[in-house]
Amino acid sequence: MILGSTGSIGVQTLEVVRAHPDRFEVLGLACGSNCDLLYRQIREFNAPLACIRDIDPSAGDWPAGTERLPYPDGMAEMAGLPEADIVVVATVGDAGFRPTESALRAGNSVALASKEMLVMGGGLFRTLADTSGAEILPIDSEHSAIWQCLAGEAPESVRRLILTASGGPFRTWALPDIRTATADEALEHPNWDMGAKITVDSASLLNKGLEIIEARWLFQVPYSAINVIVHPESIVHSMVEFHDGSIKAQLGVPDMRLPIQYAIGFPERLPEAHAPLDLRSLSRLNFEQPDERRFPLLAAARAAGSAGGTAPATLCGADDAATAWFIEGDGRFGTMTDAVQAAMDAIPAEPLDDLGAALAAHRRGFEYVQARLADA
Ligand code: NDP
Repeated sequence: MILGSTGSIGVQTLEVVRAHPDRFEVLGLACGSNCDLLYRQIREFNAPLACIRDIDPSAGDWPAGTERLPYPDGMAEMAGLPEADIVVVATVGDAGFRPTESALRAGNSVALASKEMLVMGGGLFRTLADTSGAEILPIDSEHSAIWQCLAGEAPESVRRLILTASGGPFRTWALPDIRTATADEALEHPNWDMGAKITVDSASLLNKGLEIIEARWLFQVPYSAINVIVHPESIVHSMVEFHDGSIKAQLGVPDMRLPIQYAIGFPERLPEAHAPLDLRSLSRLNFEQPDERRFPLLAAARAAGSAGGTAPATLCGADDAATAWFIEGDGRFGTMTDAVQAAMDAIPAEPLDDLGAALAAHRRGFEYVQARLADA
């Protein structure tokens, strides 16, 4: 089952499936509006079920033999089917929230690209998974690296997790230039070819802040034991430091097919998804401290994580609205980041009693920023 099949992660997941036809069968596909690509995917992978938000009549007829489930409930329905062994959640924003809940309740493994799920729902999703016995398998390359480093290690031997960050396109820019940057400049990621929203989040380092919160819930470690280090080459995907002072790292070329394949093939290591890393081609690997003065949303995410409750869900909502405004318009980067910070200053955290509270907080953050940016 692949939710967000037409996006960057969804398409690469299907490349992994295509490379291992004996290993995987596609039961269902879901997306937002890319009808043409969805129809081609349905036909190539013989998906019996599919769900789409917006149909485009110019894409032709719905593929024969595939059941079209209603949007959005069909996504949750598919994710909870007993025959769905693994549900890949690769949507943006809060679209995957109810389907993730449905999969975890049913005990289906979730291969998670959409970090927003654990950021918004945090401990609630963890409890759901622990109750049903479902596994949450990280696709994010940093979390995949940490997962691989932790294999065979006792939890009490871990001192800290070290998430690496490329630093994004503005790593060496002065603050005034970052603040006046355009969407075209923010979308020029130096190492990774990703969807637009996560690329902009990488430019602000908010993506790394969301990953801190994701790591907190995936690996059950306190925020004080999660560090970030900038590593411009994106070769070391993340590290774990142990109490004896030893550090384990996972290295690889920056290609998402590797962590996708590790998650959906787990516990097996399938044959490589791409040419292996040639260590002789690396002249050196650099590491630097992130600069929270130039990238204030990294600190904002840490603050939201520490505040707990609904604060991270509000942050996701605020960021969804701000990045959409920035990508679609001709606004400036600083206006976008200020709007997210303003939402976090204005909206108090509430207890996260249930998943509905997370969705409501996401909406509050989204609407606050939408209103603030309407006349910007
Ligand atoms: P993209 O923007 O490339 O793709 C998003 C996918 O979600 C598309 O299939 C889109 O459909 C679908 N979608 C959007 N809105 C809805 C909706 N309301 N209902 C159903 N489907 C919807 O994003 P990415 O693939 O880059 O990222 C997906 C997730 O993975 C994000 O959470 C991101 O942070 C995370 N991630 C991505 C990485 C990457 O390398 N790209 C790396 C690590 C994590 P359509 O296009 O048809 O409208």
